[in-house]
Amino acid sequence: MTIENYNFKGHRAFVRVDFNVPMDDDFNITDDTRIRAAMPTLRHIIAQGGRLIIASHMGRPKKNPDPKYSLKYILPRVSELLGVEVKFADDCNKADELCASLKDGEAVLLENLRFYAEEEGKPRGLAEDASDDEKAAAKKAIKAAQKEFAKHLASYADCYVNDAFGTAHRKHASTAVIADSFDKDNKMFGFLMDKEVKAVETVMSKTVRPFTAIMGGSKVSTKIDIIENLLTKVDNLIIGGAMTYTFIKAQGGMIGNSLCEEDKLDLAIDIMKKAEQNNVKLYLAVDNVIADKFDNDAHRQTVEIHNIPSGWLGMDIGEMSERIFADVIKKSKTILWNGPAGVFEMENFAHGSKAIAQAIADATAMGAYSLVGGGDSVACINKFGLADKVSYVSTGGGALLEAIEGKVLPGIAAINE
Ligand code: AMP
Repeated sequence: MTIENYNFKGHRAFVRVDFNVPMDDDFNITDDTRIRAAMPTLRHIIAQGGRLIIASHMGRPKKNPDPKYSLKYILPRVSELLGVEVKFADDCNKADELCASLKDGEAVLLENLRFYAEEEGKPRGLAEDASDDEKAAAKKAIKAAQKEFAKHLASYADCYVNDAFGTAHRKHASTAVIADSFDKDNKMFGFLMDKEVKAVETVMSKTVRPFTAIMGGSKVSTKIDIIENLLTKVDNLIIGGAMTYTFIKAQGGMIGNSLCEEDKLDLAIDIMKKAEQNNVKLYLAVDNVIADKFDNDAHRQTVEIHNIPSGWLGMDIGEMSERIFADVIKKSKTILWNGPAGVFEMENFAHGSKAIAQAIADATAMGAYSLVGGGDSVACINKFGLADKVSYVSTGGGALLEAIEGKVLPGIAAINE
């Protein structure tokens, strides 16, 4: 079933969204991107005369409930964007009457699902000195309770729509378990989720070659599974950011005080070997901008990547590397970018990341498909004002990374199976 084919008229739709937006100390929303991202789905259902039950998590409450994570603070913004007065159910697990009373075109927002430990299905409040048996029993009990909780949420509605890609990698009550209560004709992806799933498919399985992945950020260790999977798929792998120095050190280079994961040197060598075996061209920076301290106003100079003097640290790729990387990117037909090429938060070390973003935008204008996602590269592309010049900017951090690792995401499997 797809959201376009389903007839929502008179039907109650349980829509799982990701309204986990950042807020300041006075509960003002500081970035409503996630709320706006779900609007096409919510507006579509309302416009058809459907009855909306909107459900989300907010933050990571450790107790049930924890008022500072209430979704009531975002209710006015949701109503404003949706163009209808959205009702509020202040207990997501006791919303039977409110959901049953909805009329066509009306909407209710449920209070934070994570006010119940059942949502995540993980025991809460277990004593620190609990024995293994006690832990195992608590785990079993919460899994059983999670099933009941999911069944109860499902009982509010006639159909289930998952539009929360950001939590698709979690097997939670409302993101995956709930789908068991609906047959295949009554469960579907929302528009946002559908776009995310198709973007990942376009890059990872319907790839038009050459395929270039640009990986950056701070650590190899957090990206190893992604790199391993990409080595079986890409033609070119460009490595940028601080993880460069682990590779350079492994090659015997001098990296001064640059960030380096000493215990990952063998891994770096292994990656380089695997790239060669798989005919993947691995690109490391050839020059870089170094600084005498981790500060935007530090002294800086550009040096060859293997010759960083002691007391200096690598902060960004140099212009020669920018040109080499841009050239590879512009010759590609499929592009995946995760992680900045340098400390882009500091003006003086943002040049390399900007050059990469621009090259991806140029390649996209020439017909390439480009997917940008997973944390900081999204902030990067937004900072440089190029988000609308790439094919797709993912809203899902961890979920996108797991999809690129090649994992099956429970939220997707629950609808597809
Ligand atoms: P990650 O969360 O692993 O994608 O890492 C992103 C972070 O890596 C950003 O905050 C960047 O500032 C940081 N980063 C990128 N290049 C460097 C570098 N050469 N030295 C230190 N941090 C870096």
